[in-house]
Amino acid sequence: MGPAKTDVVVIGEGITGLCSAYWLKKRGLNVILLSKEKTAGGTMKSVQDKGFLYETGPNTALETSRFFKELVSELKLEKEFCYARPEGKNRYILRSGVLHSMPLGPGSLLTTKLFSSSAKLRIFKEPFIGKAEKEESIAEFVERRLGREFLDYAIDPFVAGVFAGNPEQLSVRSAFPKLYALEEKYGGLIKGMVKGARERKKREEKSKDRAETFSFVNGMQVLPLAVADSLGGSVIPNAKVTGIRNLSTVREEPADEPDARRYLVEYLHNDQETEIEADCVIFAIPAYDASQLIRPLSADTAHVLASIYYPPIVSVFLGVDRKNIGHKLDGFGFLIPTREKRKILGCLWTSCLFPNRAPEGIAALNAFIGGARQPELTTLSDERIIQITLDELRSTMQLSGNPVYLHLTRWQKSIPQYEIGYGRKIEALEQFEEKFPGIVLAGNYRRGISVGDCVINAHETVEKIYENIISIR
Ligand SMILES: Cc1cc2nc3c(=O)[nH]c(=O)nc-3n(C[C@H](O)[C@H](O)[C@H](O)COP(=O)(O)OP(=O)(O)OC[C@H]3O[C@@H](n4cnc5c(N)ncnc54)[C@H](O)[C@@H]3O)c2cc1C
Repeated sequence: MGPAKTDVVVIGEGITGLCSAYWLKKRGLNVILLSKEKTAGGTMKSVQDKGFLYETGPNTALETSRFFKELVSELKLEKEFCYARPEGKNRYILRSGVLHSMPLGPGSLLTTKLFSSSAKLRIFKEPFIGKAEKEESIAEFVERRLGREFLDYAIDPFVAGVFAGNPEQLSVRSAFPKLYALEEKYGGLIKGMVKGARERKKREEKSKDRAETFSFVNGMQVLPLAVADSLGGSVIPNAKVTGIRNLSTVREEPADEPDARRYLVEYLHNDQETEIEADCVIFAIPAYDASQLIRPLSADTAHVLASIYYPPIVSVFLGVDRKNIGHKLDGFGFLIPTREKRKILGCLWTSCLFPNRAPEGIAALNAFIGGARQPELTTLSDERIIQITLDELRSTMQLSGNPVYLHLTRWQKSIPQYEIGYGRKIEALEQFEEKFPGIVLAGNYRRGISVGDCVINAHETVEKIYENIISIR
């Protein structure tokens, strides 16, 4: 008996792989999702312990497309789904040791003490600034268009909060394509924001600054678990993919024979070597894992994938008696600019955002250490990291006493950095996909790292694959 056969194999049980498998199945294709782990979610893991709920990965997502509403309705998650409380719109930035609310509109921009008067006046120059002549980092782009202070006290902390990244290294074109497009397409940010809003309305998309923040009563993992559940026997847990071969090479047939578009995927299922044949294979796994599997097909592509930097980060979850917090918990949390020379990147006030995060009277906080800004801090011991976090929270949000609950999650490789030159890496990946039709390199190292981006990309991947399969039938 030969190997089992299916239309599509999806590798990876994160949100990208699961949504891809879900929509492929809805399109009537046979799909098998091979999942290395026992439970679904990948980076999205929610843990409940002693009345606390903490996330080891994303705490929130942005509703940037219609897909979340559709998934919530189809998977009957309406009672679980929850938008962040209105005060979640309030985000703080640390400046000179004081937390300032990030202005939400032109009115609060005029009155805020976060930016000096000259920084505010500098914004009026923006529409008259021309285009860049070379690829720029997000730091270069923002400093050129909006000035240094706006870079230091708005974009730098934002980049730390989203990418755990360094604005001097991230490419504006690759990491912030929509911001870059405002300059390319409309000649400036202010002009582009006005015109772009009309186009997004047509595409039924929301810009990230307008999209609602959400999670689920029992945490972010509720969504991947429900998707996996709906896929039933199409998901094979404890199945680590160990190799992939193009069937034309296996059978030594010429490349233009039909088998050139079929692949043999090898995996260890409960420690047993198993194989499955498919027309298409979606790699919905991190670039460094994909690199290992792709190497026998293309050493160059493997090299490109391995070169994508994922900085380490430590996520510190704390349960703190509310009486011991001097600062009002009336926001999303705060972020810290590099210029402030602190040892945490920021802290989310998760119990202020969603229900069910901490017992009555206790606040749930989630601080982050390391990232591309200070990767060396992540090598410190648990005790040191906890001490640093407490010291920083004491001096920023007037924390006193000791936490009643603590949990550390260490990510050796957290979020892919779309650095300067990333466009060339993506071109190399596209050339690989052309050479091996039916293989799709998906996942968060392409077209956006957020959960919202992963879901939109899964949808696009499915459309592409569907056309691909239909064309060879
Ligand atoms: C600490 C942290 C905080 C974050 N916070 C946010 C946030 O607040 N909001 C937001 O929108 N985004 C956030 N993100 C980003 C977002 O969570 C991720 O980009 C997204 O979840 C990635 O999903 P994915 O499906 O592409 O990959 P993953 O979630 O990485 O899933 C891929 C899975 O593939 C599996 N795999 C790997 N190799 C194999 C193999 N050989 N065989 C079988 N399976 C394999 C792995 O087990 C892995 O879990 C955060 C990320 C991190 C790390």
